[in-house]
Amino acid sequence: MGAAKRLCFVLDCGKPLRRNGMCDTHDQRMKRTGTTDAPKRMTFAERFWSKVDRRGPDECWLWTAALNEHGYGVMRPDTNRRNGPTVKAHRVSLQLAGVEIEGVYVLHACDNPPCVNPRHLSTGTAAENSADMVNKGRNARGSRRHTHKLTEAQIPEIRARAAAGELQKVLAAEYGVSRPTISHVVNRRGWLHVPEDPTPQRASA
Ligand SMILES: [Zn+2]
Ligand SMILES: [Zn+2]
Repeated sequence: MGAAKRLCFVLDCGKPLRRNGMCDTHDQRMKRTGTTDAPKRMTFAERFWSKVDRRGPDECWLWTAALNEHGYGVMRPDTNRRNGPTVKAHRVSLQLAGVEIEGVYVLHACDNPPCVNPRHLSTGTAAENSADMVNKGRNARGSRRHTHKLTEAQIPEIRARAAAGELQKVLAAEYGVSRPTISHVVNRRGWLHVPEDPTPQRASA
């Protein structure tokens, strides 16, 4: 009795002093983070990008957090609700890029579900989405699986033309596919089962 109650030195804390001149909370936070300041809350976009393995502009950017049963990245927008609803990461990515996604499907040009690179994503109608799913099929490869109209015969041709210096955007326009799709072919991130140097099939007889 008599001795004034000693308080944590942190301004406006008001909790009793425990050790190192601070209350338990501030002492532990200082040990953990090196500062008594409360951790800055990440914005939604910061939290989103903290879960993405960002690479070169044309590469696939993979979601590093939870995936759903179809391999798409998912996140919970409301961190305070443990069992709250989830959103698909690739949809969020396109939305953060300023694209209106309400009521539309978001399709991957790269056919890589965990990819959230907005340059590989575009919006589509329900019809385009289901055509896409049919094209992809399960355990199918190549032209049956891909979202776009390239055929296996065109792959070596595209690679050769790109190697000869033709611009990917020109090839994309000519083959009627997106630039990321051409990039996937050229940089061999897709269509790896197509031989590099196939023997041309000559018409016989
Ligand atoms: Zn304190
Ligand atoms: Zn991708």
